[in-house]
Amino acid sequence: MSPLFTFRFLGTGDARQVPVFDCDCDVCHRAQLESRWQRHSCCAALYSPKGILLIDAGLPSLAPWLSMYTQRCILLTHYHMDHVQGLFPLRWGVGKPIPVYGPPDLAGCDDLFKHPGMLDFKPPLMAFQPLHLHRLRITPVPLNHSRPTLGYLIETSECRIAYLTDTVGLPDETLQFLEQQGTLDRLIIDCTEPPAAVMPRNHNDLTSALHIHVRLRPQETYLTHIGHALDVYLQTHVLPQGVQVARDGMSFTL
Ligand SMILES: [Zn+2]
Ligand SMILES: [Zn+2]
Ligand SMILES: [Zn+2]
Repeated sequence: MSPLFTFRFLGTGDARQVPVFDCDCDVCHRAQLESRWQRHSCCAALYSPKGILLIDAGLPSLAPWLSMYTQRCILLTHYHMDHVQGLFPLRWGVGKPIPVYGPPDLAGCDDLFKHPGMLDFKPPLMAFQPLHLHRLRITPVPLNHSRPTLGYLIETSECRIAYLTDTVGLPDETLQFLEQQGTLDRLIIDCTEPPAAVMPRNHNDLTSALHIHVRLRPQETYLTHIGHALDVYLQTHVLPQGVQVARDGMSFTL
């Protein structure tokens, strides 16, 4: 039987992206020369032949993905610019409104709420209150970040994945909830920095991301929201078994 859904990483970079503007480090230089090493801002897609769910909207142009489907919706983790910038041109499109789900954050980003255009912002999601979209059960979980941010446990009848960015560590209630749900098939986790002497304020370093991997023991873990310094580090360091670094365009089925 063909798989029901494909999950695809559309953007796996941090807010600076790779290459970082004017940076001459090895990985930025490599990304300037070859697009396969580039990392765009955070964005992922979960799609079936019937419809598409975008997770975050970090790509400057979302049209190539959304225009292929009649059933479409957008799920936001939070309203930082690197996760919503693609909404700004999209909102002035014409046609059927696109539902947008996200965390409770009255400020949103710039004037998105005041002038939503074709974006149909739904009432804010509440932590641990599941919603059902496209035959998916999606449970929002709180994350640790500098503004209200939700990660998502996404379940089909066959498979369970967690998408957790942006965050530094995880709140106890989120860890406990995810542990109680049974084994995750895939954990997708914010890992912006290489191992840091001082814990970064808003994002996981590799040490804290691996700590979450060990605690939740998923079948597989994908690191995302990658900064260029982590890419430099990974040139000479190997990740533990069951952990891999996501790349733009990488996909799996569920
Ligand atoms: Zn971010
Ligand atoms: Zn660089
Ligand atoms: Zn953020």
